Formats: sequence, structure tokens, C-alpha cells
Amino acid sequence: MTTRVGVIGTGNIGTFHVNTLATRVSGAEVTAVFDVDTQRAKSLADDVGARSCDSAEAVIARDDVDALLLASPGALHPQQVLACLEADKPVLCEKPLGVTTEECLFVLEAEVALGRQLIQLGFMRRYDPGYLQVKAALDGGHIGDPLMLHCVHRNPTVPPSFNADMAITDSVVHEIDTSRWLLGEEITAITVLGGRTSRHASAQDPQLVLFETESGVIVDLESFVNCQYGYDVRCELVGSDGVVNLDNPTVSAVTAQGNRSTTVPADWQTRFGPAYVVELQAWIDGVGGGRYTGASAWDGYATTAVATAGLRARATGDRVEITLVDKPSLYDGACA
Ligand code: NAP
Repeated sequence: MTTRVGVIGTGNIGTFHVNTLATRVSGAEVTAVFDVDTQRAKSLADDVGARSCDSAEAVIARDDVDALLLASPGALHPQQVLACLEADKPVLCEKPLGVTTEECLFVLEAEVALGRQLIQLGFMRRYDPGYLQVKAALDGGHIGDPLMLHCVHRNPTVPPSFNADMAITDSVVHEIDTSRWLLGEEITAITVLGGRTSRHASAQDPQLVLFETESGVIVDLESFVNCQYGYDVRCELVGSDGVVNLDNPTVSAVTAQGNRSTTVPADWQTRFGPAYVVELQAWIDGVGGGRYTGASAWDGYATTAVATAGLRARATGDRVEITLVDKPSLYDGACA
């Protein structure tokens, strides 16, 4: 069975997803797209044999669209996800589910009222082989009880308009989701520390972010979005009986003249490109079978709750506690 997908938003990630769906995912066909940049949308639609529509609503309503992929700006996600729920169509929503905790809760409640999951969130690290190995080491009992998680998330550069809050809401959110998913528990407090700022940055950068979890695991994250040298995402999970390290995937190392050198991925597409393919294939397979393996609306809500607490923590310098609503039974097993 082929799932016919409508894509809303054809910027960076939307274009990447359309091309992935069209060329690397089996059982999927992109039939309609929309972007306010109509030229860009039309050109991409022509490339993959899809139709370019006049509005997001038109894409959602089309009879030849079985499922939606949202890659529009995050502030539009709640309204567009709700429209997908109203049309009773599955939706893969790029992060975030919403910018505020309140709007995420509103979407969550709408899905709970439907009584079944239609929403998946685009947290692709859950499909990255390296992160899956870290999770397998922990879940398989190979390192004992988790105690600390040390993370590094460095981007080469960002535009001058990318401020320190955006580092939390756009970049740190990935570690919020992966920490919850790897550890299988919620984050209960966040602290954000600034320090000396890089001369390449237009705002506070780097930042040190600390999460505390329900069982007392401490997660520290260096978020550095102007590191200059490459896209460098790593972590080390320290357990009571061992440690598991996730380094950058390396396909080759050159050893010569007393040196051994390996490459650092240039950007997020290079580092996580394969994970996006697996994510989209799993989503398409799940849409067909009515089961989802990825992040849920609950995960989207919890992640935004931690990120918005992080904004307060950054602004005040305080440790900010996070209290979530009770998890609806629809999401039992989520965050696991
Ligand atoms: P982007 O390049 O700015 O693309 C967004 C596109 O949506 C732009 O073409 C924008 O047009 C268009 N748009 C604006 N208003 C719209 C509307 N009402 N309906 C439909 N499209 C509209 O941003 P991006 O980097 O692709 O990010 C898009 C989303 O994906 C964000 O939520 C982001 O956080 C997420 N993302 C996730 C990952 C990941 O690793 N999971 C990576 C990248 C991005 P204009 O430019 O003309 O406004």
C-alpha cells in the first residue's frame, strides 16, 4: 500500500524530507505541498511529480493526501496539527509541537479526545544507530544504573539573528528529547549557565545546561552554536558499572606523519541524514499499520515544557523546576 503524503513547509528540512520521501522511502509518495514561498513549493513539487497547493488547509483536505508532514515554522505547528486531527489524518510534525506549554497541552488534549495517536514528533535521533546503541547498552544492563549523562552539541555557525533563547528552543530541545528517551524518565529541573562568550557569537554562546531527572540523574550539556569547526554531537552515559560513549560516526581515519585524523561532520544533514531516512520509513510503516515508534505528542509537550523552563532559567540564572500534567494513558509506554 502506498501512503500519499502532503508536505507543509518546503524550506530546509521540508525540502530534505520531500526528497527523502520521494527517493529513499518505500511505500510513500509525495502528492501535494504548500509553502508561502510558492515558487519554491512549485519547483519542488515539479521535481517529485506532486501538486503545489494554495494553502496548508488545501493540502490537508485533499483526497489524495493520506498523511501530513509539517515542516513549517514552529509557531504554526499547533494550528496545523489540530487541522490534521480534525481531518483524521496522521501527521509527522517537525519539532516543536508548539512554542508554549499551553498550546502543546491543547493539542495533546485534542488527540486524547480522539482516543488514538495520530501525531508523531520529528525527533530523529531516536532512529540514529549510535543513540540506539547507547540505549541498548543501558536497557541491556551493561553499564548498571544511569548516574550522569555528559553531552556536547556544537554547530559550526548560526546567523546573527539566532539568539541564546533559540539555542535552547531549537538546538537544546534535541538533548531534552534524547535524555528523556534514553533514560526513560522525565526531566524535573533545568539550570542554564552563560560564561565567557565566543568572539564569533552575536549572543551568549556557549551555554552550559543542566537537567535533573526524576531519579536524580544529572545531565550536563555544552550547547555551542558557533564552534566554527563542524557539527559535533556526542555524549557519554555514566552508569554504576560502566560507561557508554557516543562519538561522531567515522568511516575512515588517516594515519600519517605521526598523526591520526578523522573527519567531523560538516552539518546536521551529514550527521543525521541516515536517521531521517529511517525515521520517515518508520513513520510511513507506522501510518500503514496504525502504530508509531517515534516521539509522541506527549514527548512534544514534555520537551516544550522543559525548553520554556530553560528560557526562564536562562533569564533569571535560577534553577527552574518543571511539573508536568499527569500523563494520559494514551501515552503509556511513551518516553520509554
Ligand atoms: P525554514 O527553512 O525557514 O522553512 C520553513 C518554511 O515554511 C519556509 O519556506 C517558510 O517560508 C515556510 N512557511 C512560512 N509560513 C508558512 C505557512 N503558513 N505554511 C507553510 N509554510 C510556511 O525552516 P526549517 O529549518 O526548515 O525548519 C522548519 C521546522 O522544522 C522548524 O520547526 C524547525 O525547528 C524544524 N527542524 C527540525 C530539524 C530536526 O532536526 N528535526 C531540523 C531543522 C528544522 P518563508 O521562509 O517565506 O517564511
